[in-house]
Parts: sequence; structure tokens; C-alpha cells
Amino acid sequence: MDTQVVIAGAGPVGLFLAGELRLAGVSVLVVDPLAEPSPHSKGLIVHPRTVEVLASRGLLEPFLSEGITMPSGHFAALPSRLDYGPLGTDFPFVLSVPQTRTEKLLGDNASRLGVELRRRHRVTGFDEREREIAVTIEGPDGSYEVRADYLVGCDGANSTVRAAAGIDYVGTTSTVIDWLGDVSLDNPPDTVPYATFSGKGAVMLVRMPGGVFRFVGGTPRSVTTDWLGELTFEEFRANIISVTGSDFGMHSPTWLSRYGNASRIASSYAQGRVLLAGDAAHQHMPTGGVGLNLGVQDAMNLGWKLAAVLNGWAPDGLLAGYHDERHQVGEAVLEITQAQTALMSNYSPDGLRLRDVISSMIETMPEFSFTLAERISGLGVHYPPADPDAHPLTGRRVPNLGGTLFDSLNSGRYVLLEFNGSVGEVTHPWLITRSVARGELPPEWAGVDAALVRPDGYLAWAGAAGDARAAVAATSTATVARQTEPVTAVR
Ligand SMILES: Cc1cc2nc3c(=O)[nH]c(=O)nc-3n(C[C@H](O)[C@H](O)[C@H](O)COP(=O)(O)OP(=O)(O)OC[C@H]3O[C@@H](n4cnc5c(N)ncnc54)[C@H](O)[C@@H]3O)c2cc1C
Repeated sequence: MDTQVVIAGAGPVGLFLAGELRLAGVSVLVVDPLAEPSPHSKGLIVHPRTVEVLASRGLLEPFLSEGITMPSGHFAALPSRLDYGPLGTDFPFVLSVPQTRTEKLLGDNASRLGVELRRRHRVTGFDEREREIAVTIEGPDGSYEVRADYLVGCDGANSTVRAAAGIDYVGTTSTVIDWLGDVSLDNPPDTVPYATFSGKGAVMLVRMPGGVFRFVGGTPRSVTTDWLGELTFEEFRANIISVTGSDFGMHSPTWLSRYGNASRIASSYAQGRVLLAGDAAHQHMPTGGVGLNLGVQDAMNLGWKLAAVLNGWAPDGLLAGYHDERHQVGEAVLEITQAQTALMSNYSPDGLRLRDVISSMIETMPEFSFTLAERISGLGVHYPPADPDAHPLTGRRVPNLGGTLFDSLNSGRYVLLEFNGSVGEVTHPWLITRSVARGELPPEWAGVDAALVRPDGYLAWAGAAGDARAAVAATSTATVARQTEPVTAVR
């Protein structure tokens, strides 16, 4: 075998996944046709669950120090914003970090962990065999083959890997084509984030690091299936003036672009030795700024499972659980994004009334607002357990218990938490044990003596100390790890 995993695509998802696999000792080759990363930042908004994910891998500090913090999110750019305060996270805010920076930081991490990245190389196809997958790659010196255990398509919405695998990309094409511009402003509005919506159109404005501002928006003319051509600065400026009455002294555009509301999801995230993650697995309107977040969380879910298979300790069905868990999350994101698109592209008097109604519900119904905030932030993701008798928190994301759980997860291993004295010796190929004082637990953890947290931060099991050993045993085969030394509870 030339390498254990080939990843097609050095976007944020491919780079994050590469780091996850290396953390578990898996050999990885990443290829990407781009000679240099794109200078333009499609993505900007990093939501609370992704902030937790970054903290759980020791990657958060530069994001926090460079990013601009906003204590609330939005739903369909409605005037009433979603308060992230009650979400029960150490990080109740969104960060504005340009995608170029995110990719640089994730790329640095991957390279520090020993990932090989070949730029100017693209995956063109593969031949899946019984014990390996032969991946065809085209580079500057021609075509060659790399033999691997698995191929992961992180190659974006037009994924070559997905097409070569014959996996359907099911959904709808664009019926709305909105626009964005990154510009400097001599006279920004007094309050940013800024949003306005009327029969004339919609405009949202956020700050980007480096004194740049990003406008996104649309007008009734955007509700079309026709491609409107390259966006010029003149058209962009005229659009902003037509909706807001001002150009805010804009100048020096660094990026102008259009984007649509095509909404598609791969029918399967896993097929034989081929897996899909990120935009290769799902695509939707950027409304709400969740695509990159969703993709990074796919990679977090996939990385440790694939590594467990390659390291020889995965129980049956662990890798299949990747599709089962993440496909339903992708569907839910498409649902809420399409709902927002409907609210953001109906400029008729009836559409404006609907916006008023939903906005006032957000303002006056805390539970409604909380549910939307949970969905947009990614904190509401839940993988329901098969066992009806499992503890009610099973499958939910575990907050930073004791203020130290996220640090413990930096190891990329399962974390066995003891709240009530020792659970005794447990042996597992990929586990550490930590004690947390009971007094530091949120009320819903009352009565729990011990908890087993998966490497991606979701609860595998919670219960009585005496049951911990069996719960741990259920997460791995009896076979001792092939690549990894067995670890007896590290304290
Ligand atoms: C206008 C806009 C604003 C957005 N704002 C946000 C936001 O605020 N927050 C957010 O979370 N998301 C946002 N998104 C979505 C986000 O940008 C994407 O979800 C994210 O880029 C997906 O990452 P990815 O790594 O899956 O794919 P990509 O970023 O598309 O990366 C795919 C990589 O694969 C490479 N590739 C292509 N073909 C091959 C091949 N054959 N072999 C090898 N490599 C290949 C490409 O060169 C590319 O580098 C926005 C998107 C748009 C368009």
C-alpha cells in the first residue's frame, strides 16, 4: 500500500480530516489541483459547535485572537437576532474568520502532524479492488496510480470522486442568484452587523478582519434561474444603493461574486472504500454561514472512525455509522437553509408579512428562538442511541465539563470521565481517563457516576461506575490495535 488514505481536496474539510487521521497515526496523502489556495474567502462565519471542535483539538487560540466575535446569530436576516447566551457553551458567539485564514491554520496543523499535500495534482478516477483502492491522480508530469485503503472525496460540490463512484447528488437547482462583495467603507453604518430587508431587496453587512466589510444580498431580480453574468463593481454598488439608499463610501473591492440556492445531498456518504465529506456530500445556499462548519463536523465524525478501522479496533458498523449520523445532519441543514432562503427571497408584501411574524416570534418566544439558535449553531446535533434504555444524554454533544474536557479531547481519544471516584482499571486501544469534580457538573448530569465521551465529543455512554468497564469494552473489538500501542487508562 502506498498510503492508507487518499484525500481529494485541500479545502477546509480535506485539511481538517487529514489532521484527524494523522492524529491517530494514519498515513494520508492529500491532493488538490490548485497551485495555491484560493485568495477569496467564501466562508466567514464560524459557529459555536465548530469553535468547540477547534478547542477540542487545541486549534482554537489563533481563531479567537484573530476572529471578530458576535454574540448572536441570525435566522434569515430577520431583525430579531438569535441570542447565543443561553446555549450552554463556553463559546456563546459566532466568529468572523475569513476562510483563507481557516484553511491556512488547518493546513499548518495538518503539515505539523506530517500530512503530505501535493498541489497541482487532481484525482481523476479510481479502481476499487477487494483489498485496496487504486486512485488515479493527474499531476504536472502525467497520470499515476496510488494504492490506498480508502479514498475520501473532499473535493467540493462538483466532486469528481462522487461522480466516479456513481453516487447520486439529490436535490434542487438554483432559483435564486444572490451576490456578495468584500469592500472597504469610508462611512460604515453605526451598527455592524447590519441588515435591512424591504420590497426593494435585502442587504446584510458584517465586518471581516483587516478592516474589510462583506455585503451579501439580493433584489427581486435575483429570483431567477438565469445566470446574470460576472458581477461588476458598478452593478454591485447600484444594488446596495437601491436597497439601502447609500453606498457607505465603498471602494477597493477585493472580491465580487454571485451564489445560488442549489440544495443537494449525496444519497450515500460511504460506498465501499469511498467516502464523501463537506461540499462533496452536501450543497446549499450560504444563508446562515454553515457549510464549512457542517463539513468540518463531518470530518470530525469520520476521522476517528476511519482511523479505528485502519488501526484494527473498530467494532462492526462503526464506519457505517458515519453515513447514518451525518446524512441526517446534512438533511436537517438543507431543510433549515431552504426555509431561510424562502424567507429571504420573497420581496412581496405577503413575504414581508411572513418575515414580521417570524421575527416577532423570535423576539417573544424564547423556546422558539432557542431551538433555532441550537440548529444554526450546530450545538443541537444529536445522534440518537439505538438502545432505548440509554441515558437521555447519550448521543448529545458533551459541553466542556470541569472546564477541561476539551483539553482532554486534544488527544483525539475516547475520554472516560469519572465523577464519583475511580471506575477502576480499563483497557482500550484509544482511551484516556480523567476525573471531574461532581460539583462542576450541570444539573442534567445529576446521578451520573461516569461518562464515556467519543473522540468527536459526543456522549457514548453515561451511568454507574460499575458499568463503565462494559461500556468501554463495547466500543472496541478485542483485537489489540495494529498501528497503535494499547493504552491502559492514562491519568
Ligand atoms: C458566498 C459563500 C459564502 C459562504 N459563507 C460561509 C460561512 O460564512 N460559513 C460557512 O460555514 N460556510 C460558508 N460557505 C460555504 C463554505 O465555503 C463551503 O461549505 C466550504 O468551502 C466547503 O469546504 P470543502 O473543503 O468541502 O470544499 P471546497 O472548499 O470547495 O474545497 C474543495 C477542494 O477540492 C479541490 N478539488 C476539486 N476537484 C478535485 C479533484 N478532482 N481532486 C482533488 N482535489 C480537487 C478544490 O481545488 C478545492 O480546493 C459559503 C459559501 C459561499 C459560496
